[in-house]
Amino acid sequence: MVTFSDPPRSMTSRQRVLAALRREPVDRTPACNPTSVATVELMDLVDAHFPEANRNPEKMARLAATGYTELGFDSIMPVFSIIQESSALGCKMQWEEKDNWPTVKMSQPIWSEPEDIKIPDNLLTHPDTSCVLDAIRLLRKEFGDEVAIIGKTMGPWSLGYHCFGVEKFLLMSLDDPGKTMLCLEKMKEATIRFGQAQIDAGADALTLPDHATGDLVSGEYYDRFLRELHIEFVDLIPIPLILHICGRTVDRMEYIAQTGMSAFHYDSKNGADESMDEVKDRISLVGNINNPETLYAKGPETVRQEVYKNLDAGVQLVGPECAIPLQTPIENLKEIPQAIRDWHSERRAE
Ligand SMILES: [Zn+2]
Repeated sequence: MVTFSDPPRSMTSRQRVLAALRREPVDRTPACNPTSVATVELMDLVDAHFPEANRNPEKMARLAATGYTELGFDSIMPVFSIIQESSALGCKMQWEEKDNWPTVKMSQPIWSEPEDIKIPDNLLTHPDTSCVLDAIRLLRKEFGDEVAIIGKTMGPWSLGYHCFGVEKFLLMSLDDPGKTMLCLEKMKEATIRFGQAQIDAGADALTLPDHATGDLVSGEYYDRFLRELHIEFVDLIPIPLILHICGRTVDRMEYIAQTGMSAFHYDSKNGADESMDEVKDRISLVGNINNPETLYAKGPETVRQEVYKNLDAGVQLVGPECAIPLQTPIENLKEIPQAIRDWHSERRAE
């Protein structure tokens, strides 16, 4: 459970997020986005649009800062996409326009065997990774210690999708688990190096997406291929890690809770209560406001209900379940921190 300091002393946004990631007392629950809250409306507001905001550090930092300055979240998360390091690894890219996400052309995979895997020397100086590092430096300089800056380093399972193609990678895991393990072992170097570089640049915490997604693989898969690797990341990467996996994941939360990760960024396909029961205070939960229906298509009243459901369950950090759709209305996003404040003042009044 979350405990709240009483009487509520005032914490900075950064202190609030970091305390909640450690399951320590907070003055109120932080509104936290481990993944993107960029929208086209915010891009217009600060004149920092996709695709440039994924490739130019000033624009990346400027767009990311709106999560704090305009929306009122307690965190700033500049890594909007999941493809920055895949671009540096040599994947073919589709950078798209301002209203769409950049993607890896997975129909043109770059690797097919473990021997093909080479982490290039310029992994951290490639323009699409150094952009992230520069943006984190800019944000740290501008905001000092007032707000949590969250970076992102992709796990090897996700990198496998990008570099081998989703189908090929999943088939390999069925046909030859040993070969798959070898691939993961070789790709993990990219996860660790990009993560460490973001720490050096000033990140407070890192989101680590590793898309062993509910609808693609089972909980047993997570245990077999990823649990040990994720424990290793916790040992080797010395700041709080927030694991992100989409979809229905209650069947693997027990294993996830064993990793020592600081938090699990969980999807709205999982109930707040059942998830809290599963992780039993070994890991914080963050999420799980629904994107495609609630944030994108419904109104602040529904957003508020979902925020309250998470707070009532004792979820430690509240925010969208995943990177939000770029057309999400700003008023729905602003409702998240507002609803958190109101929930706390209602409780204090009781
Ligand atoms: Zn996701």
